[in-house]
Amino acid sequence: MAIAVYPGSFDPVTLGHMDIIQRTSQMLDHVIIGVLQNKAKTPLFSVEERVSMLKSVTSHLENVEVRSFEGLLVDFVHSCKANLVVRGLRAITDFEYELQIAQTNRVMAPDIDTIFLTTSLKYSYLSSSIVKEIAAFHGDIDEFLHPEVARRLREKMNR
Ligand code: ADP
Repeated sequence: MAIAVYPGSFDPVTLGHMDIIQRTSQMLDHVIIGVLQNKAKTPLFSVEERVSMLKSVTSHLENVEVRSFEGLLVDFVHSCKANLVVRGLRAITDFEYELQIAQTNRVMAPDIDTIFLTTSLKYSYLSSSIVKEIAAFHGDIDEFLHPEVARRLREKMNR
């Protein structure tokens, strides 16, 4: 069985993330989206909110599950009984960082492989940070997010 963990901050989930989730779910038996609770970062959305948004936008995908985690990714992957990590690559700038993480994880856990999916071209510029910046200035975010996520981001910004 090919069981993968797709880890990230997902603060919030964008259509770029969803493209990777959709494609991975078609390729593999089971996909666990791992929402990172990183105490060193201050996300806009709490881990509970990020999990809830991801659950709502992936509810149509039967083999996709959403969980939160803290600590080392390799420990989370083992606890999920998964053998793959999925990461998305947007531009060459992502590559160096991703390669370093993948190599380090492989040293710590040789039984886990990382697979990279290149983003669909139309989302290659998209990041959660850019979308949050646009929303902060009340720009149009509908092209980048699922309607439910766009609604929650507007709500958060208007508070
Ligand atoms: P992190 O904080 O770990 O970078 P993100 O939530 O920003 O987490 O991203 C999670 C994963 O999704 C990463 O592998 C990232 O490269 C990928 N990703 C982010 N945005 C896109 C996008 N627009 N298209 C494809 N992959 C993406």
